[in-house]
Amino acid sequence: MNDLLHDVAARAGRYLEGLEGRPVAPDRRAVEALAELSGPLPKTGWLPGEIIRRLDELGGAATVASAGPRYFGFVTGGALSAALAANWLAGAWDQNAFSAVSSPLGAALEEIALGWVIEALGFSSECGGSFVTGATMANFAALAAARHAVLERAGWQVEDDGLFGAPAITVVVGEEVHASLLKALSLLGLGRKRILRVPADAKGRMRPEAFPDLAGPAIVCLQAGNVNSGAFDPAEDPIGLAKSAGAWVHVDGAFGLWAAAAPQRAHLTKGYDRADSWALDAHKWLKVPYDCGCALVRAPQSLQAAMSVKAAYLMQQDSRRDPFDFTPECSRRMRGLEVWAALMSLGRDGLAELIERNCRLAERFADGLTATGFPILNEPVLNQVLVSFGDAQTTRSVIEAVQMDGTCWCGGTEWRGKPAMRFSVSSWATREEDVDLSLEAILRAAAEAGP
Ligand SMILES: *Cc1c(COP(=O)(O)O)cnc(C)c1O
Repeated sequence: MNDLLHDVAARAGRYLEGLEGRPVAPDRRAVEALAELSGPLPKTGWLPGEIIRRLDELGGAATVASAGPRYFGFVTGGALSAALAANWLAGAWDQNAFSAVSSPLGAALEEIALGWVIEALGFSSECGGSFVTGATMANFAALAAARHAVLERAGWQVEDDGLFGAPAITVVVGEEVHASLLKALSLLGLGRKRILRVPADAKGRMRPEAFPDLAGPAIVCLQAGNVNSGAFDPAEDPIGLAKSAGAWVHVDGAFGLWAAAAPQRAHLTKGYDRADSWALDAHKWLKVPYDCGCALVRAPQSLQAAMSVKAAYLMQQDSRRDPFDFTPECSRRMRGLEVWAALMSLGRDGLAELIERNCRLAERFADGLTATGFPILNEPVLNQVLVSFGDAQTTRSVIEAVQMDGTCWCGGTEWRGKPAMRFSVSSWATREEDVDLSLEAILRAAAEAGP
């Protein structure tokens, strides 16, 4: 076992060192060669060393270099060294972090890390929550808490009696709601379509003047950080209106909410601390390895009411917090550990600096593209930049050419009916030189694709 782990460490080290020099998108042949991993299930097992060698040779070559400095797709970026190393240790420890008895360490780290996240965002210390797989599940868990709370106030126990015959819940979202929030609503029986969508302005923000009148049980979902434009729904007016109607306010802040931890960007999240729940991703901007999201709630007892499990063998032995009381899962890995390690290695200042640096580098992309005459379609308030290279066909060919070239990787999207190339600067590893190298490659591709 020891030799094997040393071999893995050497291979992983070589992989990470090679990230800068290799094409960001994997070679087509390397992806085709993944077929060699298939075949019938072997009758007898292989030696672990052979398995790792095969995985490293075939698998490593087919990875997307998203842990490297020039990957700008989706909202992705490699893991911090302390978080990756902690993740390896966690693999060796193999704790089942579902309860305080099954893993006192897992339960303790989760509680400490949650407290630090809440502190970093500047939220009230009465808040609680849990670590889940990502923002999709964080939205799901927080909205389950919301569903519990608004129906309980209406005299209905949704966990016991379900939604058949329950008082109707009004659900309000912005026009630019993230698809994963709609999925969470559908999983909760609240429906993707029976919701009120508030129209958005040109930046993708909810228009407060179009906010509906609310009566009865209601959940209002705001977005902190549009996945295309980076824009934030206004918080003050919608939260004021929602609160006065007794509604629950949930914020999908997968990456954008981290702006609250960076003094120069914190103005974007003004007022969001008054919400009742928040969804946040740690794998997006805290730079922990996949996967880790965080569901936060002002009143942890509503999350507990929605998630708690009762069974004879789960009887509480003492008053320690059991993670499974707050999560959709029971058995689970120790997600709080990498969050703890990442926050420990960054500190408050490092976290603020990481977020601010990514936003500055996004501005550098926007400035470089504007200077060459390509229009930026959004106001780059955060780490997201949208650019058009002309008509739809040209923009699509530039995106394809950039991905083929391999210097960097940017994806495509559509913004207000126009195809665009989307940059998301979310890696701790990206430096100014990486932005400049990427800009050169993109402008080269644009010159070749241009009219
Ligand atoms: C990424 C994202 C999600 C989904 O997060 P996952 O971690 O992929 O589950 C939800 N909402 C917003 C605004 C996002 O950016």
